[in-house]
Amino acid sequence: ADDVALDPWGSSTISDYRKLFEEFGIEEFDDVLPDVPNPHYLMRRGVIFGHRDYDPVARAMREGDDFAVLSGFMPTGDPHIGHKLVFDEIIWHQRQGGDAYGLIADLEAHSARGMTWEEIDEHARDYLLSLLALGFDPEEGELYRQSDNRELQDLAFELGSKANYSEFEAIYGFDGSTNVSHVQSVVTQMADILYPQLDEPKPTVIPVGPDQDPHVRLARDLADRMRFFKVTEAYASFELRDAERPLVAAVYDAREEYAEDAEMPRCGEAGEWLSEADLDSLGVVVAESVRESTVEKLANAGMEPLRPRTRFLDANATEAAFEALIEAIDGEKRRYDEHVDAFDLSFADADELAREIEVDHGGYGFRAPSSIYHRFMTGLTGGKMSSSVPASHISLLDDPEDGYDKVKSATTGGRSTAEEQREKGGEADKCPVYELYAYLLSGDDDEFAKEVYDECVGGERLCGGCKEQAAELMREFLEDHQEKREEAEELLDSLDISTES
Ligand code: SF4
Repeated sequence: ADDVALDPWGSSTISDYRKLFEEFGIEEFDDVLPDVPNPHYLMRRGVIFGHRDYDPVARAMREGDDFAVLSGFMPTGDPHIGHKLVFDEIIWHQRQGGDAYGLIADLEAHSARGMTWEEIDEHARDYLLSLLALGFDPEEGELYRQSDNRELQDLAFELGSKANYSEFEAIYGFDGSTNVSHVQSVVTQMADILYPQLDEPKPTVIPVGPDQDPHVRLARDLADRMRFFKVTEAYASFELRDAERPLVAAVYDAREEYAEDAEMPRCGEAGEWLSEADLDSLGVVVAESVRESTVEKLANAGMEPLRPRTRFLDANATEAAFEALIEAIDGEKRRYDEHVDAFDLSFADADELAREIEVDHGGYGFRAPSSIYHRFMTGLTGGKMSSSVPASHISLLDDPEDGYDKVKSATTGGRSTAEEQREKGGEADKCPVYELYAYLLSGDDDEFAKEVYDECVGGERLCGGCKEQAAELMREFLEDHQEKREEAEELLDSLDISTES
């Protein structure tokens, strides 16, 4: 598919996102793209540019295993063409076989944005209608409002017990004047992200803009904190039931595997086999892995009591302490080897088994949620596309004629004269109109998007005609979408989700 793939943004725009890759550990989507079956055009065109841990989702798609997709919408205004990216991402994953969830973040809209319930109801309905009109299947998937979902709220309450206020200060800049409901809406959002796994753990992808990454990171962290039976805990004792012994062996295997990778620093190595723990909290995790409460919980759940044998590190663990741990594990391994023959179990399989054991004993066994990140659309007037600046965006509810007019008056990446444009070509990479083609108007047709791009940069395409074509396509899109919205009214009313007060 390489020959039809587009690189419309070139390396210059990618560099704007480099900081996200380097500082926050978001990975480039291109790395995982070859593993995705029938990738969506937003993936092929680099609009979805980054991910966090998308591999398990891609694997589930390839192997026909369970996975889920979830994203939420804050009903603070009209849904616009930027939101359509997320709608499309949810619907595409649903069509690939995922359990799909679309939620209305009404608690957040009320607490963080001060919207009235009346305004929220109206906008909620508009978001849901567009999601249905674009093809979300509510029979297969689930739509809900935070305020209506009791299971979600219970989960939020539980997650809240694993988070503390100083974290929120650090992550979200909360301070003494932050209202309490706002804090509550953050734990609710964490619960949203983990909600698809309430019944059973499964890979889950959250399609969002990169600005939402802090939520994803916190949710991944909380997912881990909720685990009470990590693979690493198994190794803390040799007195496991026979059935769980493979876990112990697997941990040792994994440790060896990672130790062989010379490029991986020692601490990173620990980070891998110590349940993806953040290095900063290395000490804490290790200490937690053998905490008394775990022993107690497992004993209560009817398992042989785990008696911690290793208690080396505390929260301020030093490199030397870490070395001591490694050495002790080696000692444990030698002793273990005397009892058990080699088991053929990968770390991932052992982790899976540990989740099953946890679920059997009343836990959630959450998997850390994955995420994908899409580029923000440039506003039609240049700068950021903003819900509060009508001319900068096209609402999915805009009159088709207004949509046409907005495209016609959009800024472009064109040169100052037609002559110069023929000579140097347009700057499609900087052109909001080209973005409309690539993100929306070309649909699945890569050839068409590429043609527009090539003609533009090659100087064959001039902005007047180009905008006229885009404006007409936009008018058609809006007409068609709004017709489908009308058709979806009945369907929405038949669903068990309130959109009227
Ligand atoms: Fe943008 Fe089209 Fe002009 Fe190129 S020709 S700069 S894509 S409006």
